[in-house]
Amino acid sequence: MSRDQALSKIDEYFKNGDFEAELARRIAFKTESNLAGCEAALQAYLDDELVPCLADLGFTCEIFPNPRADAGPFLVARRIEGDELPTVMTYGHGDVVAGYDAQWDNEMSPWHITKNGERWYGRGTADNKGQHTINIAALKTVLETRGKLGFNVTVLIEMGEERGSPGLKDFCAANKDLFKADVFIASDGPRIHPEKPTIFMGSRGVFNFTMRLESHAGGHHSGNWGGLLTNPGVVMAHALASMIDRNGKILVEGWRNTHIPNSVRTAIAKLEVGGGENAPEINPLWGEPDMTLAERVFASNTFEVRAFETGNPQSPANAIPPKAVVFGHLRYVVGTEVSQLMPLLRTHLDKHGFGDISITSERDPRYATRLDPDHPWAKWAIESLGQTAGEEISVVPNLGGSLPNDVFADLLGLPTIWVPHSYAGCSQHAPNEHILESISQSALRLMTGLWWDLGAGKTPKKTT
Ligand SMILES: [Zn+2]
Repeated sequence: MSRDQALSKIDEYFKNGDFEAELARRIAFKTESNLAGCEAALQAYLDDELVPCLADLGFTCEIFPNPRADAGPFLVARRIEGDELPTVMTYGHGDVVAGYDAQWDNEMSPWHITKNGERWYGRGTADNKGQHTINIAALKTVLETRGKLGFNVTVLIEMGEERGSPGLKDFCAANKDLFKADVFIASDGPRIHPEKPTIFMGSRGVFNFTMRLESHAGGHHSGNWGGLLTNPGVVMAHALASMIDRNGKILVEGWRNTHIPNSVRTAIAKLEVGGGENAPEINPLWGEPDMTLAERVFASNTFEVRAFETGNPQSPANAIPPKAVVFGHLRYVVGTEVSQLMPLLRTHLDKHGFGDISITSERDPRYATRLDPDHPWAKWAIESLGQTAGEEISVVPNLGGSLPNDVFADLLGLPTIWVPHSYAGCSQHAPNEHILESISQSALRLMTGLWWDLGAGKTPKKTT
């Protein structure tokens, strides 16, 4: 049996309506993990839907309670064919954001699939039920075509991703043995362009912090005290001006990351930034001056002022405000020493005469990760996907945005490869969430080819 036969079989799965039927069944579970009373639906999605499906494919399924008592369970399903074979860990989430039932166009229900041209509407079609349905269907197709997979699989499904994945890290840390694998391959998020098969292999991290300056207790009449008292808003503005120039270049010593590995630079050179529906106009002069636009988003650290307040903007008084506060924000790439960000800022502020400004950090769970595009597993996946697509795919070393990929990349130590099956205009998290028929068909083929190749014996050397 051949790769082409597996691809024809998955085409048939789409054309005969099985994909739609399977996805429709899954969309019907109201797994809104942010709403009170969702527990039964979260459990039922695993018990009644995924466990029977995976058990049919010869998986051993086990449902684990979340270490966080208030959060949804985890499903771990494994199919082991042989110790000498490669093992893949894959992941998906069965929970969705709230349905916002009354807000969909044309009175569509979020809990059914409504087709309109290229678009299939329904809550979870894109995020993430459609994506893991595609990956599991592709596994099934390879299994049926070849009679075996030719590799081992561990599936992890969580039911709290839309709440920020409570308990995921602790669960994985406590069960590292369950997740020993050679590679991590999963699907979530958008392609770089609807027609462009894409992989991404990590994301930038997030670092938030607050700067405060309290100059005196209470506001003071500017006629009596102006010229005599420090204005904390003015001092804070100067502090900010010392941290970033008027074109967005970071000035804090040690905060920039200007080293881009050649493999990353080459991959990024092929990516376009911006574009898409209602996209704002890019300022080509903003940001890291010696980088291309794509390098600024994917390979540099960027500093933003999220909010800045002094006095009372809702009701400005003729007074000297008592304090000023800035909510600062960094997106950072691999190679940045996160533990040094606050000490470096402290040193910078002291050196520039802003010793009175206090700073506090707010640890965000999303750390920077990136698999090198030249990593053997990355090259392997790029080649397989390119072969199925019949064209070069887009390789994003890390997303500009952030996701909790460090659980898989750092904690479990796996090379992480994400193959997204959605697109930026999919209205994920909003009413009218949908997938595109063309992407779904292409994604089913790409994943079938990928799983096929994983079991075909030409994978990078086993590491575990
Ligand atoms: Zn989501």
